[in-house]
Order: sequence, then C-alpha cells, then structure tokens
Amino acid sequence: MPELPEVETIKGDLEKTVIGKKISRIEIFNPKVIRQPQAAEFKRSLTGLRVKRVLRRGKLLILELSNAKFLTVHFKMTGQLVLRKQEPAGERKLPDAGSKKSITRVTFYLDPGLALDYNDLRLFGELRLIDDWRKLKFIQELGPEPFGLSLTDFKKMLAKKKTKIKPLLLDQKFIAGIGNIYASEILFRSKIDPQRPVHDLSPLEQTVLYKEMLKVLQSAIKHGGSSVDDYVRVSGKNGDYARFHQVYGRNGKPCLVCRTPIKRIAQGGRGTFFCSKCQAVPSSGARKENPR
Ligand SMILES: [Zn+2]
Repeated sequence: MPELPEVETIKGDLEKTVIGKKISRIEIFNPKVIRQPQAAEFKRSLTGLRVKRVLRRGKLLILELSNAKFLTVHFKMTGQLVLRKQEPAGERKLPDAGSKKSITRVTFYLDPGLALDYNDLRLFGELRLIDDWRKLKFIQELGPEPFGLSLTDFKKMLAKKKTKIKPLLLDQKFIAGIGNIYASEILFRSKIDPQRPVHDLSPLEQTVLYKEMLKVLQSAIKHGGSSVDDYVRVSGKNGDYARFHQVYGRNGKPCLVCRTPIKRIAQGGRGTFFCSKCQAVPSSGARKENPR
C-alpha cells in the first residue's frame, strides 16, 4: 500500500506533468472505485476542468481543480496512477482497458496529449470528486503530518499512549502516512524493539525515534518510494527505495549490521520485521550510545 513517501512521490511526479492540463474526457471501466458522486455525475462534473494544484495529506492524494473542487485518490492496497501519451483513436494497444485482463478502472484524458490511468487490481481504492477534502471523516480524524511535527509535540503525543510502539506508528489517528514498510524500517534504525510498550521508551529513545522517522521518510521520498507490491511511479517505473530496506521483507536473511537472522512476527495482523539483537530491549534505563 502506498505510504507517505510513495504518495509524496506521485504528487511530485504529477506536479511536473499535469498542472494546467485540461480533463477533456473520462472513461470509466469499473465504477466501483468511484465513491462520490455517482459515476455518471463524476464524469460529467470533471469533464472540462483543469488541474490546478496537487496536494497530499497522509496517504491521500488530492488534485485541486479549476472550479475549486477536489479530486481525491485513496490508493489503498493496489491503486496506481500511470501517465501515458494519448494514442490516436483506434490505436490503443494496451490490454484493452475495459477488458477482463486490464486493471485500468478509470482513464482521464488530459489535453494536450496525455492520458492518466487509474489502475487498481483489487478495487479497494477510492476516487472522489468533492467540494472540500478537509471535510472527509477520516481526514478529520487524521494525526499530524510527520514533517509538520516538533520533537516536543511528538513526545507529548507518546506520553499519552499505552500501546506497543509499532502498531502505534501505523495508527493514522496518531500520526499520518506511516505504514507497514516504514514502521519496521524506522524502528530498526532507532534500535527499538517493535514490541516495546510506548511508556517504556526512554527520553533518548523517543528522540532517536523522532529523528529516524524523519530521516527514513525523507530518504524514501528522495528515492521515489518503495516498489515492493503494486506501487509504481506515475511514469510506470519502480520507486528505488526498496534496495535500502534493512529489515522489511528480509526475514531469515542476516541483519546488515550484526548478521543475526531478521525475524518476522505478526502484530495486529501485520508482519513486523526486526533484528532481535540490534533492537534488543536495553537491560537498564537509558540505552548506551554504541553497544558494540
Ligand atoms: Zn542486527
């Protein structure tokens, strides 16, 4: 599922390509992904509008349109936005959008010359055309953006929590945009066991966690996100960050720091990857700077 770095990458890709373009035509191959309004109304209302701005909040992508309405894209499990050149009528060679094999659910024709396909293998994604994205219920419940958050506020937020740290990082109401990949990577780099209760973290560990969270997310954005499942960039190419993963998807492989095999455990129905040695619970109080 695209997390903050992937959606931020898509945002950046679209900013370079679709701002000012006019939505001249829309084809809907599967109306299930259109949550609001009804498909016919969605098509009618969007046609003729231009893309004014691209925004992101948490894992939600938002296109601001020339009539001040918003097209929101929630990618969920397998959503993709892929930009291509418009083919002259009758020359469309792709898996016949609309055919059973195609995963293209909606195509936005953008004049001049482009077509933006919304692909979604499993159809969990959600497209909406709405007056104000800020009024979406899940947006109103969303926690702060990591990049807009101070260390002091982060520590205050942690102080109120009694859960384990990994599920907390995944909780969008706690902090926006972090998913399963980056939660595991952030905790590894912070040398914190994902099963630790939040109240057990020392002030130093909380500071390290905050800094590593920002560093990991920044680096992932810089490398275009992680293509581990269905995520691709707007160009259709893979993001590059998966090769920097130290624990995610590496169960059984040696830790890149200490050679201990990486463990995979289930937490809240999600796989958690960690090194039991590098992320061992410190025996007493504050963790030493360099245990080796
Ligand atoms: Zn290790």
